[in-house]
Amino acid sequence: MSGSESSNFQIPNSVNDDREVFHFSASIQPYGILLALSYPELTILQVSANTQDYFGIEPQNLLGQSLDTLLDAQFVAGFRQNLENIDSVTPLKLSICTSVGERCFNSMVHRTSNIIILELEPSQQTDVSLFSVPALVKRAIAQLQQVSNQHEFLQLATQAVRQLTGFDRVMVYQFDSQGAGEVIAESKREDLPSYLGLHYPATDIPQPVRELYARGLLRFIPDLTTPPIELIPAENPVTQQPLNLSLTGIRGVDPCCVEYHQNMGVAAILVIALIRDRQLWGLIACHHQTPKYIPCEIREGCELLGQFVSSELASKVNHEELDYIVKLRSLQSEFVKSISQVNDLKEALVNPAPRLLDLVSASGCAVCLEEEITLVGVTPTLEQVRTLIEWADRQIDDSLFHTDSLPKLYPGAEKFKDVASGLLLLRISKVKRYYILWFRPERLQTLNWAGDPNALIMEAADGSVAVSPRKSFERWQEIVRCTSLAWKGCELENALDLRSAIVGIVLNKADELAQINQELDSFAYAASHDLKEPLRGIHNFSVLLLKGYGEILDEVGKSRLQTLVRLTRRMESLIDALLKYSRLGQAQLHLQPTNLNELVNRVLEDLHINLQGVQPDIRIPRPLPVVCCDPILIGEVFMNLLSNACKYNDKAEQWIEIGYLDKEETGNWGHGRQARQQRKINSSSSPSSVTLYVRDNGIGIRQRHLETIFQLFKRLHEQHLYGGGTGAGLTIAKKMIERHGGRMWVESVYGEGSTFYFTLAIC
Ligand code: ADP
Repeated sequence: MSGSESSNFQIPNSVNDDREVFHFSASIQPYGILLALSYPELTILQVSANTQDYFGIEPQNLLGQSLDTLLDAQFVAGFRQNLENIDSVTPLKLSICTSVGERCFNSMVHRTSNIIILELEPSQQTDVSLFSVPALVKRAIAQLQQVSNQHEFLQLATQAVRQLTGFDRVMVYQFDSQGAGEVIAESKREDLPSYLGLHYPATDIPQPVRELYARGLLRFIPDLTTPPIELIPAENPVTQQPLNLSLTGIRGVDPCCVEYHQNMGVAAILVIALIRDRQLWGLIACHHQTPKYIPCEIREGCELLGQFVSSELASKVNHEELDYIVKLRSLQSEFVKSISQVNDLKEALVNPAPRLLDLVSASGCAVCLEEEITLVGVTPTLEQVRTLIEWADRQIDDSLFHTDSLPKLYPGAEKFKDVASGLLLLRISKVKRYYILWFRPERLQTLNWAGDPNALIMEAADGSVAVSPRKSFERWQEIVRCTSLAWKGCELENALDLRSAIVGIVLNKADELAQINQELDSFAYAASHDLKEPLRGIHNFSVLLLKGYGEILDEVGKSRLQTLVRLTRRMESLIDALLKYSRLGQAQLHLQPTNLNELVNRVLEDLHINLQGVQPDIRIPRPLPVVCCDPILIGEVFMNLLSNACKYNDKAEQWIEIGYLDKEETGNWGHGRQARQQRKINSSSSPSSVTLYVRDNGIGIRQRHLETIFQLFKRLHEQHLYGGGTGAGLTIAKKMIERHGGRMWVESVYGEGSTFYFTLAIC
């Protein structure tokens, strides 16, 4: 490309090993003169050794002199004043008193702390056809403005630069994310071979040089073969160090760069940086087979063109890409519309299947909603996807992750590289563990390198690694494996938009649900409240009938009336439960630090009074924690769990254990989906919550009923068994825990016993 160069300050070369250091030399090229001046005195501290050639003055005679020796004193005074404001490399036109009279120089001036560096280059008459350089640049810009297609635009830019400079070959390199360059536009002498489509490894341009290009600096080397001009003295007398010439256009050329270009058959180069979004996007690189000097005015014209190309890059698009973007956007909006209208998110995402794939042009996809993974199209196996998600869970923090070479990051992917060398992962919610993963298959890619890129790195006898320019630029083909087609920016945007849409839909649904719940609560409250009155009437009249007409009624009539009274009582307790349940939704919590040992003791005392028959052995293995809760509600929770533990037990030796889990514990039993989910929630619950449990050795609950028992009025037994009940106790207890921001679940082995878990915040 445009070759390695060096500096006298050492910058680690990021491309290679950190033993590698990079130098910018403290010499200059012979096409200019350099003066280093003290600031603010403007005394000449260093000069290039070629002053005799341009000024007719020996370097020694300039050292220690004031700048007035070369320039008009009045000009120097104005110059000194303006230096204060100079913060970048600034061009000037100077008239210098040489031994043969006044001579005009183009100059670049910049300041490095207290040293002024002045580069001078004699002004030359340009002989570019009939037109002036500005006219040519203007015409080129006008032509470039007509073109909207990026490829044509860059092609035209290479032609314009070649017309201005007369170089044998002008190319546009575009850098990829790893810094390797590809020739994407070229204008060249007809007899030369084309370099279009050739790739150049990132190591061809060392990082420090890239950084200079990224600042938009132009590099011109008219003759790679001429020996450099040293500075006199070599070290700056103020800093006692070689001068930092990194911002100097005429700085000397690193031998490595010379060799690199000579191996390529190039004797002169001009490189213009292309910057997009403040990043080095690419280069316009000009090569000439023989030395070629380009006057300053023309270089300025090229620089201007480069700036124009840079500024227009963002607005020039590839038509195919534009069509593709439009297609993706319309797919996206149709898709979002359809998923927002359905209730089952998973169904909406995967049916019809191709939509989700088309959205980012993937060949396979996995939709992961908590534990449930649905595969669409060509994908790794379910188990492979599950393990991949676990890896992503640990490795990836962002909502969006993409790679076109998954096996390089995740070695497990080697096994399924055929179907998933490319991965685009969208995390919809971390808490809920919602993911969409898209896959792309391996695509063997043939890369045409300009020479073997590995030939650049050589191992020395001592084992150190050194970079040396390639000898051959013969087309060198590399087959790239374990890589898919790269994900495009518009595809990533589509994925992110889908995420926002899903989050929006889920939130809306949650809102709707909350509203419906609230309405139901108030309905249940009003209904149960109003039901109680007529019920009470039925009850009272039935009792009155029994009392007043008991003698008239026969036995059947009396028994029916007694059943009526019993049923009204049961109905009343059901309505009470419903009332209580619906009130819970709106009830104000009175949270306070609560010592559970005291609370449980109180509950146990009440319980003993109510218990008839067997008294279970109560075990509390260790003191219970202090939690932050409403003690009345949590007292009711314990009362419900403990009385159930007593009720649903037919063993001769009964016991109940009340305790809490250590953080890493997950409970003993239960393999159901709910138990698994709860365990996960439990292990990821905030460090300030505790999982309490009430365990018994009772009748146990069948797996299929583990979730049913929390439903309102659901009982697993006939009314007359196990002391009866409304079937509302657990529903209310669970809601009380949820009102505290906690969760409740059960694990059980049928015939052996049950453990009810719930979480609460600790103080
Ligand atoms: P109720 O006890 O009034 O029927 P609950 O809501 O408290 O209502 O319990 C619902 C059902 O769950 C009970 O009918 C019972 O079948 C079952 N159940 C509750 N606790 C236990 C337990 N500790 N062991 C076995 N089954 C239980």
